[in-house]
Order: sequence, then structure tokens, then C-alpha cells
Amino acid sequence: MELRKDPITRSWVMTGDDPDIISPERSFCRFCPDAPESPQVISTIPSTDGSGPWAARAVVHPSALYHIEGDPQRRGDGLYDRMQTVGAHELLIENPRHDRPLWQASDAEIEKYIVLMAQRMQDLRRDGRFKYITVYKNQGPFAGQEFTHPISELTATTFVPRRVLYELRAARDYFQQKERCVFCDILSQELRAGIRLVETYGDYIALCPYAARTPYETWILPRTHDAGFARSILRRSDNHELAAILRRTLNRIRSLGQDFHFVLHTMPNTQHRAASLGYWTTIDDDYHWHLEILPVLGPKIKSYTFKEVYFSPVTSETAAARLRSASPGE
Ligand SMILES: [Zn+2]
Ligand SMILES: [Zn+2]
Ligand SMILES: [Zn+2]
Repeated sequence: MELRKDPITRSWVMTGDDPDIISPERSFCRFCPDAPESPQVISTIPSTDGSGPWAARAVVHPSALYHIEGDPQRRGDGLYDRMQTVGAHELLIENPRHDRPLWQASDAEIEKYIVLMAQRMQDLRRDGRFKYITVYKNQGPFAGQEFTHPISELTATTFVPRRVLYELRAARDYFQQKERCVFCDILSQELRAGIRLVETYGDYIALCPYAARTPYETWILPRTHDAGFARSILRRSDNHELAAILRRTLNRIRSLGQDFHFVLHTMPNTQHRAASLGYWTTIDDDYHWHLEILPVLGPKIKSYTFKEVYFSPVTSETAAARLRSASPGE
């Protein structure tokens, strides 16, 4: 597989002619603590109350989209850009218990998972090859859930996914005009109006964005301005408020539908050499991390797509060759 950049939208697409990989059927869950074989463990948050062997852990994705070794080898191809799929692709096991999804976990358990997210992101930020690190979760069959164990995914990529890039550029433009953070402005207007607020809980707010892309789209944001999720979490003495509002919001969403995506939007990695190019000089002031939750209300609603990064298991060359040899009809 390789990454290709669309020269018009500047979004990166992962593509390659991938033979259908059928992973062997297993009679056990690889992520349960007593599994006879498990993926490579990267880090573990210990259990403090003795309720389990551990509280949350990060493992290497058994069929990772990105691979940690090597250099991205970004290169031109005429007007096009391409690079290798260098990056990190981890699974964050939210709970040792197979039957304990995030919205049913205790706030103390969710807090440990949040700290694991922040620690993994902070660790990967030290790798100057990575431009962007994020965590997302696909819950339910219509959202493309891959494993039955409660799990989220973490990726570190050598590019910024396009949706985030749009946000970063827009937030920077807003800041240049007004010298204010657009998210802080949204928060204060929504707090005054009240009609799109779902809940305020300590330092956090859950709200439905003014121009939602999907029914019941909900964002969770800290009221205290901070561009970076990891440092914001690791700086706090505890994170029970975020754990509680996340659990409560997921329960609300699940009362309307079982399936959802969530994705963390945070600042890019300023350790990356692109930082020295001056792209992100006002990032600490102009961006504001948040969680976006996008419910998937069954297959009938096709009015939106959740695509942070496009993935195509057939290259354009193979596709064109197949289409050329296909019958064009009469
Ligand atoms: Zn399991
Ligand atoms: Zn802000
Ligand atoms: Zn966002």
C-alpha cells in the first residue's frame, strides 16, 4: 500500500492492490486478558483496585494500515505526490472485560482509558516523522466495527487528515481576523443560547454543532482553551469530568441508535519539521481540541460520509485497466 495526494483537494488517499486478506477465524478473543495468544503489547495502565489484571492497554493493530519502521520517502511523480504508509496503528483496549463497553464502564475505568489515550499520543509526538496523532472508534456494524472487544484505534500519520486540515486552516484564518479562538467563541455563544447544548459537566460541554453533518452529531469540548488533547489531559490532576460526560453522552446517543463513530480532533504534532516552516505559528491560540461523535442511524441515511482518510484497496491503475477491458455495451 502507499499514500497518494490528490493535487486538487490536497487530501491523502491510501491505495494499493491488496489481495483480500482473510484473517483466520479464532475461537477466542485476542484482546481478553486470558487469550492464548495476543497482539504485541505497547503499554498497560495497571489496575488500581484489583478488579482485573490491568485497566487499559495499547497493542499493535494485528493488521495495521501503517507501519512504524522506515522513512515515508515522500517524493514527486510529475505533479503528483506519494509516500510510504509509515506511521503507527495501535488498538486501545478500553477495558479488560469483553462485555464492558465504554458507556457501561465506571467513570474510574473510563478515566484510565482517557489517560492511556493521552499517554500514547504524547509518546508518539516525540517521533518527528509523525505530523498527526489521533484516536477514533467505530461502534456497531453500520460504523464498520472490526472487533467485538471494547476497543478504539490510534493512528500516527505523516500527514494531517483532510477534515482536520480544513479545521486547522479555518481556525487559523478566524484567529488572524479576530484574534480569538473560533471554538471558544462557539462555546460562549452556545452557552448563552442554550438550545444546542446537550450538557455541561464541570469543565466540559457536550453540544450539537450548528451545522451538523449527521443527525445527532455531538461534540465534547473543554471550556478551558487548549489546542492539544494529550497535554490538556496529562496536566489535570484528574479526568473524571471528561470520563463522566463521555459516558453520559454515549448513553444518550445509544438511546437513539446503536452505531456511532467518534474521533478526537487535536493539534498536529509540532515536533514535526513542518512546524519550522511556519504552518502552525498560532496553533496554541487558534485551535481547540474536541471529540466528535457521529451516530450512524442505520444504512438508510446516506446523507453523510465519515471519511477522515480515504482508503482504496484497488489502485487507480488497476481500476482503469479493469474498466478498459470491461464491456462498454452497445
Ligand atoms: Zn475480548
Ligand atoms: Zn478555544
Ligand atoms: Zn473537529
